[in-house]
Amino acid sequence: LVTLDRNHLVHPVVNYRSHEQRGVTVLETGSGAYLRDSNGHELLDAFSGLWCVNTGYGHESIVRAAEEQMRRLPYATGYFHFGSEPAIKLAAKLVELSPASLQRVYFTMGGSDAVDSAIRFIVNYWNALGKSEKKHFITLERGYHGSSSQGAGLTALPVFHRNFDLPLPNQHRIPSPYPYRNPVGSDPAAIIDASVSALRDKVQELGADRVAAFFCEPVQGSGGVIVPPKGWLKAMQECCQELGILFVVDEVITGFGRTGPMFACEAEGVTPDLMTLAKGLTAGYAPMGAVMMSDAVYQGIAEGSGADVPVGHGHTYSAHPVSAAVALEVLRLYGEGGLLNNGIEQAPRFEEGLRSLLDHPLVGDARSRGLLGALELVADKEGKTRFDPALKLADRIFEAAYHNGIILRAFADNVLGFAPALCYTGTDFALLFERLERTLNAVLDQP
Ligand code: PMP
Repeated sequence: LVTLDRNHLVHPVVNYRSHEQRGVTVLETGSGAYLRDSNGHELLDAFSGLWCVNTGYGHESIVRAAEEQMRRLPYATGYFHFGSEPAIKLAAKLVELSPASLQRVYFTMGGSDAVDSAIRFIVNYWNALGKSEKKHFITLERGYHGSSSQGAGLTALPVFHRNFDLPLPNQHRIPSPYPYRNPVGSDPAAIIDASVSALRDKVQELGADRVAAFFCEPVQGSGGVIVPPKGWLKAMQECCQELGILFVVDEVITGFGRTGPMFACEAEGVTPDLMTLAKGLTAGYAPMGAVMMSDAVYQGIAEGSGADVPVGHGHTYSAHPVSAAVALEVLRLYGEGGLLNNGIEQAPRFEEGLRSLLDHPLVGDARSRGLLGALELVADKEGKTRFDPALKLADRIFEAAYHNGIILRAFADNVLGFAPALCYTGTDFALLFERLERTLNAVLDQP
């Protein structure tokens, strides 16, 4: 397998040469929070796959839901006038669970096409209202919104832009509300004020009649798990309302109990105009994403001038019945199955574990919301100096963690990301932090 992989499979974000040398780790089985690789090595997954397997691995009831639906009807397109029972029930269930304003659901295969579709709905909405100049989008530095051309343009990663003339001329950014490294300091009110002022200034600079929407993640994920102060999301929503632009919340990572409640919006009393979902929706057992929108947006498109279809594009696998059946069972496990409650109960343990590592010489910051967290490693705590990228510290930590039996995510700027599954127990957390400390010590001891 290692040779076949080396010869044929593309791993898009790892260095070619290091992958050739290292070889692939073939994951074979999973149960709860644990994985086993083809060498029989047991690994505690502290990242839920790619922050998606929120339920943990090996849920037989999800397997049964998929199997039954595959047998009954493996495929039905939602493209024309067709639909399937699980997809329709899932749409209704999501509406029931989401913030009150969100009444309409369009299903996609994942997060990137959910973001891409949201952009199309928004542009069509403003067009239908006769405001076709409203085509500019604002998002945050350190934001991540997927890898479609539109989503990659909204994503603040240079590697996504290089060679592709991105961001697009209608895509703009304001600073991230990054408490650990915010030029205004770490005072919550100052951070909120700075973000609101930056958004106001950007809209003024571009002209409110040209700005369509502001996109943000309630907690920035791939940009380094940046946790804005409580109240930040609400303040941004109010600012968008005041400026007459749509407020879009990308809950691809933060949805489905990742930060505590079903959606991060909920805890902040925020009702966005549109919300994008994926990952925890099917907990990685099948691919699926969704865009949810308010009836005002949907009806605006439907009733406005010129538009007689909501978007005019679709996807072959939109509203896929098997994915929908999986999602319905996953949602049952979050609710009736007690996973959401367990996640909420375990979150203080996770937070304490991360905070306890603030004493470690490498750790400059520990931050989390719910079961989404990070450690930021610094060369000097006082000056918050970053390590020289040439040291490839994050890669070394990823490797050392793997050898110590944990899977974590090492981001740019030496941020270690954690997204334990909602099924973690106290024993799992004890093991995670014991192995993590061992990992950090091993790296510290290396020259
Ligand atoms: N939005 C956010 C906030 C994400 O974190 C991601 C994926 N990490 C995406 C969108 C894109 O989702 P996908 O990889 O399923 O296309």
